[in-house]
Amino acid sequence: MVDSGIASAREIIGNYLVETGRGLPEVNLLVQTHSHADHIGLSAEIKKISGCRVAAHMAEKSWIEDIEEQYRQRPTPTFRSYVHYSTKVDLVVKDGDLLDLGDGKSLKVLHTPGHSTGSISLVFPSDGALFSGDAIPVAGGLPIYADVFVTVQSLKKLKAVKGLQALFSSWHDPIQGEKVYQTMDEALAYMQKVQEMVRQENAKAPSLASQELTLRVLKGLGIPENLASPIVVTTIEAHRKACQMDEGRPLIELESLGH
Ligand SMILES: [Zn+2]
Repeated sequence: MVDSGIASAREIIGNYLVETGRGLPEVNLLVQTHSHADHIGLSAEIKKISGCRVAAHMAEKSWIEDIEEQYRQRPTPTFRSYVHYSTKVDLVVKDGDLLDLGDGKSLKVLHTPGHSTGSISLVFPSDGALFSGDAIPVAGGLPIYADVFVTVQSLKKLKAVKGLQALFSSWHDPIQGEKVYQTMDEALAYMQKVQEMVRQENAKAPSLASQELTLRVLKGLGIPENLASPIVVTTIEAHRKACQMDEGRPLIELESLGH
């Protein structure tokens, strides 16, 4: 299983598995693309039901194993309803690891940070399937990532994976065919758009407070201003910082800037 959804999704996930002829008790390995509450909500329960191992990147481990620590450091409004329990991580994974799924099948781990430091994506090569968690921003949606350049590098890394035919992203409906790579290109173009919007607003009023800058950028993007939560403010601040470093060059052309 890749990620476990939110605490209230137990029936939806359980019933779906039953429809496919399987069940929660059969889960053998639960891989967390990252630690955020909406991805680990049911993890403790699924582990209890199935005895599965839980895998995650080292940089996400502490927020999975201590949800209070996560809440202190990243207090999202819906946190308490999304996750109730911490879960022990049994297996720490890193870029390039192959997770053996039996029957000669394996899942490849790609470290794709940016949305969070330890975000991973998973490639199922035999089916050309990619599970990307929150690594691919939604074009036109609310931008949520902690680091602009690192997110761009991760998108470029995903684009370089050959033979993908299906994309399972937490923010999109399942995507198939050539739309898989298109979705990544759209994400990159959207990040560039946000970057330019931040640059523009920042040029008009260079010392704007983070919240105010975020409101103006969201307005420019056509996104309701009431969605300007602290995590979005963090993203816009990350763009402001990136604007000071990109020397006006397109994000996709930058190999790295101090990372
Ligand atoms: Zn997330």
